[in-house]
Amino acid sequence: MKYYITTPIYYINDIPHIGHAYTTVAADVLARYHRKKGDEVFFLTGTDEHGAKIAEAAAKAGKEPQQFADELVPKFQDAWKNLNISYDEFFRTTNPEHEKLVQQFVSTLKEKGFVEKRKYEGLYCVSCEQFYKENELEDDKCPVHKREVTKHSEENYFFLLSKFGDKLLKKIKSGELEIGPETRKNEVVGKINSELEDVSISRAGVKWGIPFPGDPEQTIYVWVDALLNYYTASIIYSDKTLTPPLTPPRRGGGPEWPANLHLMAKDILWFHAIIWPAMLMAAELPIPKKVFAHGFFTINGAKMSKTLGNVIDPNDVVAKFGADAVRYALLREFPFGEDGDISVEKIASHYNSLANNIGNLLQRTISMIKRYNVTVISTEAEKSLIDNSVQDLSTLDRPRSRDDKIVKIDQELDQLDFMGALKKIDDIAIASNKDIADKQPWVLAKENKMEELSKVLIEAHSNLGVIAELLEPFMPETAEKMKKQLESLEPEPLFPRLEE
Ligand SMILES: [Zn+2]
Repeated sequence: MKYYITTPIYYINDIPHIGHAYTTVAADVLARYHRKKGDEVFFLTGTDEHGAKIAEAAAKAGKEPQQFADELVPKFQDAWKNLNISYDEFFRTTNPEHEKLVQQFVSTLKEKGFVEKRKYEGLYCVSCEQFYKENELEDDKCPVHKREVTKHSEENYFFLLSKFGDKLLKKIKSGELEIGPETRKNEVVGKINSELEDVSISRAGVKWGIPFPGDPEQTIYVWVDALLNYYTASIIYSDKTLTPPLTPPRRGGGPEWPANLHLMAKDILWFHAIIWPAMLMAAELPIPKKVFAHGFFTINGAKMSKTLGNVIDPNDVVAKFGADAVRYALLREFPFGEDGDISVEKIASHYNSLANNIGNLLQRTISMIKRYNVTVISTEAEKSLIDNSVQDLSTLDRPRSRDDKIVKIDQELDQLDFMGALKKIDDIAIASNKDIADKQPWVLAKENKMEELSKVLIEAHSNLGVIAELLEPFMPETAEKMKKQLESLEPEPLFPRLEE
């Protein structure tokens, strides 16, 4: 099966923070999980590089917008490298092929009669690049940026979103467009029922953008350009030949539209769940299969903010705890889809739990296997067992894991229940550690009950093989280290004691 998954393209002038990392790690886990299942995965992330804000920031820095963007891209790429993110392509909205395709798309909307030019008047926040109604302001300021809004009037092109309410509701109801989690889906449906206004898709006077087809005075509004990356990527990175060919054929076929899953934070769900599918329907293109919004973070109970200085830089925590422990902590701390709290202390505490549970199990099991000279079966046999998810265990020449059950986390991952999946994995190690504590192999050795002793340790070794397999999408380096150690029987701490 083809599996095309995306994160949003991140705003280039942001510093990658723990929120960006959260979405991206979640997407990476799903991408790795699907690759492991044998799916043909395409995982897309990237940066959003157009708009008045970028032009403003570039001017402030005394640079051309393109040069400014070019210099900022490595910030994101380096952060994702540190977090071991296995994206297939890093998309940039300044890609000339993308720009051409966006214009084609907007022309299609015009041709099909879903675009109208209208005079627009309102209160505008330059940072949001959007208009606000008076009652949406807080102390006459932008509710997001707390900066002054300006009275602004211009002629813009509008996408006739209001025509798509019933069609969207039908798609959502039938499950053709899946929106998650359920609470957010209900919010979206409620909002469609109460307000679905046409939306402006162009800007006059914003030069740093894709020219609006047929009107050199206007550029295409940044979010139109940004949303379209998901679709244009499926053309740019595919081996379909464009006329004229814009890109060399890609090995492996590339992504196939529609996307299986768009992941994002809840503040941009409306764009992804409503405006984006409506635009695609207007152009008579397939809509994404699933759109899922995760919650917001507080940091130690406080709202994350630059002014409070409590923003967690993913690079810092990776340097301290390693990529895997950070990946684990983010997804283990609270359910995906809900709001939650994170802090460096919480990540440290997860690191210690990993050391005390899985790390400890590996270390003691391998040490005792060596000390008591126990013969263990190869992890290859365990691997085939997991990969084939064999139901009939009686046919297998292998010690059975606890309760004769193979632990599976497919259901959790298919439902984006990362926390539930990790909890299941942790529980295998907890039970296995308890088994060792109960049966006391060191006592069995003294009593010379070697068969019983072997059984305990073979069981633990086998459980560790299962843990390594299941952990792989979450903690790829740790899983790799575990497998090596289970094979070589050379123990080495997985999570060394932290320096103070
Ligand atoms: Zn604003």
